[in-house]
Amino acid sequence: MVEDMFEHFETEAIRIQTKRTGEKEHSTPLFLTSSFVFDDAEHARALFAEEVTGNQYTRFSNPNTTELIEKLCALEHTEDGIATASGMSAVFTSIFGLVKSGDHIVSARAIFGSTHQIFANILPRFGVTTTYVDMDKPEDWESAIKENTKILYIETPSNPGLDIVDLEWVGTLCKKKKVILIVDNCFCSPYVQRPADFGADIVIHSATKYLDGQGRVIAGVILGKKELIQPIRYMARNTGPSLSPMNAWIISKSLETLAVRMDRHAENAMKLATFLQESADVELVRYPFLPNDPGYAVAKKQMRSGGGIVSFVIKGGVERAKKFLDALKWFSLTANLGDTRTTVTHPTTTTHSKLTEEERLAVGIKPGLIRVSVGLEHIDDIIVEVKQALVNSK
Ligand SMILES: *Cc1c(COP(=O)(O)O)cnc(C)c1O
Repeated sequence: MVEDMFEHFETEAIRIQTKRTGEKEHSTPLFLTSSFVFDDAEHARALFAEEVTGNQYTRFSNPNTTELIEKLCALEHTEDGIATASGMSAVFTSIFGLVKSGDHIVSARAIFGSTHQIFANILPRFGVTTTYVDMDKPEDWESAIKENTKILYIETPSNPGLDIVDLEWVGTLCKKKKVILIVDNCFCSPYVQRPADFGADIVIHSATKYLDGQGRVIAGVILGKKELIQPIRYMARNTGPSLSPMNAWIISKSLETLAVRMDRHAENAMKLATFLQESADVELVRYPFLPNDPGYAVAKKQMRSGGGIVSFVIKGGVERAKKFLDALKWFSLTANLGDTRTTVTHPTTTTHSKLTEEERLAVGIKPGLIRVSVGLEHIDDIIVEVKQALVNSK
């Protein structure tokens, strides 16, 4: 879409911008308009015939969503993309734009809850079935791919267990089997990990998380190869999951600070993970950049940092975990993540409570597992808060 004008992530995230209007504004203005005027009857005809490109109607495109997509294509190393009203509409639209009745999907078992609902309960109504595979049994993945398998779907690191999938390995497998690889890159953002560099065909985001990073809006994006975005765009244009210009404007502004935010999230997360690992009240810590983490070697290969999420298992199971949450003085108890504010979740009793105990254990969710989305507050204050809650939850 955009010429490769800049060499560095930070410059692209700040300087890729919608062309200035006649007012010569410095910062990109907000284009709150549902439609756009045509120069004349012939221009209208040519736009509708797709002989020329340009804005017609905000359900199709708008300067604010176009700017956001142009930036993210540069940052994710992808050719084209679509901005959607939520992360889930990005998941739904990308899959429904690509599959037909009779198709099959292979998915990692550890995926976002609503994505699992689409695979388990919605797609089967349209004749599309899904086989789940486990991160710790890579030998199963190739045999799960059948004649009619269209998509292989993963998240890495997984939520909330923080297991890592080797992107180079899965990218090579999908190329060999001619299967479309979709990666939900929400936990990393393109600053930490670029799945397209390892062979991902489609990269999706809940932009609600790190891309906004300040807990203000719900949004999603679908990015990928031109020829795959084409059928997804057809689906999006006609079914209307479009992102509002206002929210696109907010997220495009947020991308200007993504690199500095992600560096600090990761620095704080690494320090918190190291502290937790030394605590006698903690059974297990998962953070991809801890040298003794099972995902460490692969994470080092494909991620710039360990990201901002730390999961740990507190000794004492569900009861102790709930006491720990109640002992926190200022961390936010919320299911959201990727915020400047540190947020804490107990998956067993909230986000993953609909799963059976066995299903939870299969994706690494022990009863005492607590997920921390480490914020940008001072790390010393973060550690003091965790330390007092560990003491006061005994
Ligand atoms: C939050 C999230 C989603 C869903 O995004 P929404 O913006 O809430 O619709 C999808 N995938 C992952 C990994 C998420 O964390």
